[in-house]
Amino acid sequence: MMISVIGAGYVGLVTAAGLARNGHSVVCIDVDDLRVNTINQWVSPIYEAGLDDLLSSLASRSGGLRASTAYREILDTDLSLICVGTPSNSNGSINLGHVRDAAKRIGQVLRSKNGYHLVATRSTIIPGTTRDVIIPLLAKYSGRTVGRDIGVAYNPEFLQEGKAVQAFFSPDRIIIGQLDKRAGDLLAEVYKDIAAPVFRTDITTAEMIKYASNAFLATKVSFINEIANICQKLGVDVYDVVKGLSFDYRIGDKFLSAGIGFGGSCLPKDLRALVYASSNKFGYPAPLLKAVLDVNAAQALKIIEIAEQKLGNLDGKKIAVLGLAFKPNTDDVRDAPAIRVIRVLLEKGAVVKAYDPEATENARNVLPGRVEYCTSVANAIDDSDCVLIVTEWAEFRDENLYQGKIVIDGRRALDPQKARAVCDYQGVCW
Ligand code: NAD
Repeated sequence: MMISVIGAGYVGLVTAAGLARNGHSVVCIDVDDLRVNTINQWVSPIYEAGLDDLLSSLASRSGGLRASTAYREILDTDLSLICVGTPSNSNGSINLGHVRDAAKRIGQVLRSKNGYHLVATRSTIIPGTTRDVIIPLLAKYSGRTVGRDIGVAYNPEFLQEGKAVQAFFSPDRIIIGQLDKRAGDLLAEVYKDIAAPVFRTDITTAEMIKYASNAFLATKVSFINEIANICQKLGVDVYDVVKGLSFDYRIGDKFLSAGIGFGGSCLPKDLRALVYASSNKFGYPAPLLKAVLDVNAAQALKIIEIAEQKLGNLDGKKIAVLGLAFKPNTDDVRDAPAIRVIRVLLEKGAVVKAYDPEATENARNVLPGRVEYCTSVANAIDDSDCVLIVTEWAEFRDENLYQGKIVIDGRRALDPQKARAVCDYQGVCW
């Protein structure tokens, strides 16, 4: 099939490259010239495990994948997948600016298309957005009839950054929210080479499945962090508690790693957007989900409270922060706990020495200039008064790196017993 993917970020580029690998002919449309040029040289503009290899494997296949800034290129395709960003507004609500722009520009181009064209959204959008925003924009700017000339669907993305390429080829499920059978059938055809359960439903249900999924994952993290905080008061190791819990098949052991909480480009912003929409639009205040956010906000600051217990006033103290990305194997620092921790450390007058194998450049763009970026773990911890492990990159997981140091572990990166033999070790909630 001929497919246009609108927005070539984490979701769009992985989707586009994966579909091209499966034999489709794909064009990425992005507003960012630099990003488009980079992709056209078969180089990934983002760090995502396996993506560079996947792109270079496509270099020799003519017509497999290319990128462009010209929306008119969607005319030669059978369908468009909208994968643009949906960031938070300052009040937590979803910012649909990029989605509106994409829908409007697709509509303008489809004005001159004769045949049927499917527009499916993969961006995370508040339930009701396809019906209330995307369909009216497509209809207005194309002058065509949605349902007859333009098919519409919603196809949520569930990728985990760091494992996105692998997840594209073996997802847990494919959700197809369809306006009608024709739209759903065409979208199902796109994924015919991928072995995964396919669930077809209406569009608003599919939009809600994405939010419910992220809300549940976030709830698991705040739940186990709350249990961990209680365990810590009792001198009980929460990781042993989770081991005991995990034998219950209804509970399992996934997403129950206690630590400094969730971050990233999805869970925090999606939860905020759902709470905002539910409270202000749907008429339900969502108290449980609000509490999940509150527990998470407090959890990140615990690492600083412990540093203050160990060092007293942090003014002038050298603090090594290991990890800037919100999790290992990505360079994404959006809503990363490390960014919040560093901002508070700087407010308290600490001298911050940060190290991350991949995310330094992205962190530099969002943090004040006073942070000293280091080129290795050794370089960061060298003359530091205290080491905070904020992201569990594999290279941080060697207790022997921290001989004689004060170490506060936010991610259970180290074995507490082994670490206590070589340094002053404290877990954030164990
Ligand atoms: P991103 O910011 O990495 O990429 C978005 C891309 O869209 C950028 O390249 C940007 O230049 C481009 N863009 C913006 N406006 C555009 C326009 N009008 N036309 C064409 N291109 C435009 O975002 P992302 O992380 O890939 O997320 C995209 C969507 O997928 C969001 O709704 C997000 O919530 C959702 N999602 C993300 C993940 C994840 O792990 N990153 C997982 C599941 C779902």
